[in-house]
Amino acid sequence: MTAARTYQVKSIFGPTVQGEGMHVGQPCVFLRLAGCNAWDGRVETRAASACPYCDTDFRGGEALDLDAILARLHALIPPRVDLGCVLSGGEPLLQADAALLAALGAAFAWVDIETNGTRLCPSRPANVFLSCSPKRIPHQPVVCEPDWWKVLIPDQEHFLDGALASGQPVFVQPTCSDSGPEGAIYRANVARCLELCFTRGCRLSLQIHKYLDIP
Ligand code: SF4
Repeated sequence: MTAARTYQVKSIFGPTVQGEGMHVGQPCVFLRLAGCNAWDGRVETRAASACPYCDTDFRGGEALDLDAILARLHALIPPRVDLGCVLSGGEPLLQADAALLAALGAAFAWVDIETNGTRLCPSRPANVFLSCSPKRIPHQPVVCEPDWWKVLIPDQEHFLDGALASGQPVFVQPTCSDSGPEGAIYRANVARCLELCFTRGCRLSLQIHKYLDIP
């Protein structure tokens, strides 16, 4: 008998609400896969990485097969018709395959894949969405065709023209430092986002988890 494929899972948690993008405020659970191709996750290498503002711990975790992942997700909250799932990382498309996406799509009302855009997405059901926050990573171009973009301002503003040209919705999100959504730099980033909303047709995305201080 062949052993089931496993995924390296950093954490499974909820219930919470989606904090960003198209499904913001909607109830959901989170599946965070381990590993990223933009940074190795060590504190001492963060400043020189492609994402010096990254606030996510995606190292380590445990190997779980699909049945174990679904069981843990379902244990978080009784099934309900409007519950979503956020598939995040790290970079989840380093590991996610069509089987995982099909299973999540069947189990939840909607699924948001939070990707940096440098990996092609396997085939996915219609209720599994691709949310791309593009990152400039050396020798790893953005190749995905997302359902919406989430461009960090000002750090990834160079992606804005291309994102708008795609015709998909474009959220602009102020870069937030370790100190949280406050201070002069953060306010300047918000002001730039608002300017882009008023002049370029972008939508504002705030990371509401940071305001509420919830996972
Ligand atoms: S791509 Fe996302 S998870 Fe990976 S280092 Fe950058 S911000 Fe962090």
